[in-house]
Amino acid sequence: RAKAAGRNSVEFFDTRMQILAEQRGQLAQDLHQATRQQQFHLVYQPIIRQKKLCGVEALIRWHHPQQGFISPGIFIPFAEQSGLIVPIGDWVIKQACTQLVRWQKIKHLRHLSCSVNISALQFAQDNFVEKMIQCLLDTGVSPERLKLELTEGMLIDDVENIRTKMGKLQTLGVTFSLDDFGTGYSSLSYLHRFPLSQLKIDQQFIRNLDTNPQNKAITKAILALAASLELEVVAEGVETQAELAQLRALGCESFQGFLFSKPLSSDAIESFEPETLAKLFDLQIARQKNG
Ligand code: C2E
Ligand code: MG
Ligand code: MG
Ligand code: MG
Repeated sequence: RAKAAGRNSVEFFDTRMQILAEQRGQLAQDLHQATRQQQFHLVYQPIIRQKKLCGVEALIRWHHPQQGFISPGIFIPFAEQSGLIVPIGDWVIKQACTQLVRWQKIKHLRHLSCSVNISALQFAQDNFVEKMIQCLLDTGVSPERLKLELTEGMLIDDVENIRTKMGKLQTLGVTFSLDDFGTGYSSLSYLHRFPLSQLKIDQQFIRNLDTNPQNKAITKAILALAASLELEVVAEGVETQAELAQLRALGCESFQGFLFSKPLSSDAIESFEPETLAKLFDLQIARQKNG
């Protein structure tokens, strides 16, 4: 049960988790069916650099026929345990590449990149690189537009094998991002060994960045580390003007979060309004001038 009163979402989440735990078997079965019956779709969350939409992150959504929306935070771990993440992940990659090809044909979205979350088990498949190449060929997407998000935990074991796989894809133009940075097992010394082009600072460090000195110190350290390794940094989960202001003061230039936009349908990405973005940044400058 949620400790504090008024935290309805937490309470809801706990209850839901409990129900799901009781229906573990059922959920695994439902996931199987979802894979076959195409109950999934992707939404795309804008990533902003220099006041512009520079990319999106593809995020999976599952509309369960009886239970309605089930968060990926809940069903992805199940999919990983059952191995279903492999066919689901294949579908996500194919879908994202197909969408990218459509966007490449739209003038103002020509340079948009799409980030795709990759699970450990998925990346560990012996034929992951071959399947990826096949998907690039089948869809005709520019590999430069595709960014694969890995997590820290995936870079610990079997380092040579992982480096080789990343290297092969990098040669084709595919880029790599390290997601949820700071939450995993962080031996910073390993970072330079992999062909990464981006770090994403986990949203737990962005939260209350303006008032929380620990988070500020951590974010500052990550930005310095990334600068010395020549990695781009995206701040995840930016929710407030104050967080954005602090990030900019620390020299961070790329942002993702509800302040800019929630994840959107592909159609909504096409009509995403750059003007509102400029306003967000200008508003901030105006505030700074007024003290
Ligand atoms: P993630 O990759 O770190 O994705 C970012 C999550 O933060 C998304 O949750 C997004 O909706 C949420 N978010 C973005 N901005 C804000 C904000 O300002 N405030 C808050 N509170 N949240 C924000 P979502 O879509 O529920 O996904 C949760 C996780 O599920 C993802 O975390 C990722 O680890 C996993 N996931 C989602 N889609 C896929 C997928 O296609 N494949 C795999 N393997 N994992 C996926
Ligand atoms: Mg991600
Ligand atoms: Mg993340
Ligand atoms: Mg996450």
